[in-house]
Amino acid sequence: MKNISILCAVILFAAISLAFSCNQAKAVTNKTMTNKSAAITTKGDTIKKIVKSEAEWKAELSDEAFYVLREQGTERAFTGKYWDNKKEGIYTCGGCQLPLFSSATKFKSGTGWPSFYEPLEAAYVEEDVDNSYGMRRVEVHCARCHGHLGHVFDDGPKPTGLRYCINSVSLQFEEQ
Ligand SMILES: [Zn+2]
Repeated sequence: MKNISILCAVILFAAISLAFSCNQAKAVTNKTMTNKSAAITTKGDTIKKIVKSEAEWKAELSDEAFYVLREQGTERAFTGKYWDNKKEGIYTCGGCQLPLFSSATKFKSGTGWPSFYEPLEAAYVEEDVDNSYGMRRVEVHCARCHGHLGHVFDDGPKPTGLRYCINSVSLQFEEQ
């Protein structure tokens, strides 16, 4: 009987310890998640949504940048600044300068638009389904200013198999 009591006590203690350690593990996970959702950029800024009126955007963007970034337009293929840019650096958002893509993930797609197989940080580029022009495409925009960037397709190269087809005018290149 005494042995059973001790055994019960040991089991109870083990259960409490386990529950406690699980809670601790959960707390650590939550902490990590919180840090990630705060989305620290490579410049150390946090992503805080930028909301401006149409008039404000119009005042600070070129006509073509306004048309693409704010009205979901598309620049003509092979006309942008960066489709053939082979320099090393970072492509930031043309609307708010959030760093979006690296030259390290840029590849030759033959489309006439700068193409990348992944963004610098998944959280910096958000997706929406776009059913315009009778096609079902996945639209991508900047997570901070909601500026339209282009579309993402699943016919890209390894390692992701994705092709982020981005308008040059939605980007600004910073050589590094
Ligand atoms: Zn932006």
